[in-house]
Amino acid sequence: MNTRSISFRLVAWYAGLLTGIFVLLCALLYLDLRLFLENDLRQSQSRRTRQIANTLLAHVKQTGEPYVASQTKDWYEPEINDRFIRITRADGTLVYVSDAPKDGSFDPAEVPIFPPSSQTEFSRKLQLSGNKTLLIAALNFKSSGNPAYLVEFGELLDPVETMLNHLFLQLALGLPLAVIIVAGGGYLLVRRALTPVEQITRAAERITQYNLSERLPVSSTGDELERLSVSLNRMITRLDDAFQNSKRFVADASHDLRTPLTILRGELEHFAEDARLDSELRDRAGSMLEEVVHLGKIVEQLFTLSRLDAGEAQTEWTGFDLSELAKTTAEQMSLLAEDKGISISCDGSQPVPVKGNHVRLKQVVVNLLDNAIKYTPEKGTIQLRVHAVNGHAVLEVEDNGIGIPPDALPHIFERFYRVDQARSADSESAGLGLSIVKSICTAHGAEVEAQSAVGSGSCFRVKLPLSKN
Ligand code: ADP
Repeated sequence: MNTRSISFRLVAWYAGLLTGIFVLLCALLYLDLRLFLENDLRQSQSRRTRQIANTLLAHVKQTGEPYVASQTKDWYEPEINDRFIRITRADGTLVYVSDAPKDGSFDPAEVPIFPPSSQTEFSRKLQLSGNKTLLIAALNFKSSGNPAYLVEFGELLDPVETMLNHLFLQLALGLPLAVIIVAGGGYLLVRRALTPVEQITRAAERITQYNLSERLPVSSTGDELERLSVSLNRMITRLDDAFQNSKRFVADASHDLRTPLTILRGELEHFAEDARLDSELRDRAGSMLEEVVHLGKIVEQLFTLSRLDAGEAQTEWTGFDLSELAKTTAEQMSLLAEDKGISISCDGSQPVPVKGNHVRLKQVVVNLLDNAIKYTPEKGTIQLRVHAVNGHAVLEVEDNGIGIPPDALPHIFERFYRVDQARSADSESAGLGLSIVKSICTAHGAEVEAQSAVGSGSCFRVKLPLSKN
């Protein structure tokens, strides 16, 4: 999982925020309910203390304390109802105290006599053994003509605690579940919302200089993503226009330069061989001729590239044997290699059928062999191999020449890139040979790669789809 993706970050924030809000709400709910239940119990206890005071203690003079005690026991049945009731005189002596509840849930003897308080009504919480809490409401009863009494009415907080514990458990279990559901739902929503981004990314990945006419998908949702794809499409259109203009310029320039250069070359050849001119003039004409030939070669290569850019290699496709093509090309170039004492061996006995532009694929072999001859010292060896591997035709040109430095290797297929001008064996090198190879390969859906080690040699590998028939 990509933790830096927008969907992950959005969902993480969303789930984190929701968890925080949920936890806060649950804590508020829990505390509020605890407060409410305790207050409710306290109020009902206070009511009862007032009942005892107003109905029994207010007439104690007439009825007597034993009557108060027996009536309290009869009315409230504290032992059956798990209640604690105590009536004490101002001096702390007992008028009445309830017995232990029938279920033995607490022991009234554990409840101390509290010091006198000036407040009329108050309450307290008492921690008893067995982790029990007794909530006691107390009333200081004073009325004219009657002695003062303290009436206490207490109940265990157990039912409240049980209810709160139950609620806590439900919240503790429900909260993670709610967060998982909410986060899962959020993830699905975010994924759905970002699907057009995936599509735009995939389409953008496919667009290269060779298919600049393609456009990104535009979802008619009227949202920011629609605006983004429309804007990107406009940008691609502008790039396409600029690219077409520059290609047209190179094509027109190289085309228009060819004729004057041919005329210039002819004239200079004429001068260089004209015996009527003195030798110095002829030498000058000769060196100018060399420059014009070099210029002519560059213009020719530029013209080739512009035709390849225009899609020329995708036309006139035929099926042929790549092995045969490699063999005949190697034979034709062996003369060039022999001049340097270089031997070319060709390994490809099995036919390797491919489909493509025969002239252009021959140019691939020519350019690779030409480089191998150029950059291999005298008496070197070049191996040309053609074979079929896993549904692909593979052509390899390996030499034991000067090699290519690692930092230059990623750039050698770029236009006008030369590793080092001083290395170039002839001044005609312009750094366009491998770009032509790359263009032809791309047009054939082929890959070309190079491996090299300085001083040991280089190996260029072209991988073409194998033809089925
Ligand atoms: P150039 O016309 O200068 O040879 P290329 O595009 O054919 O241009 O090659 C680009 C660069 O790659 C060259 O400058 C050369 O230094 C290097 N190169 C290409 N092929 C080989 C090879 N077989 N051995 C060593 N270097 C090579």
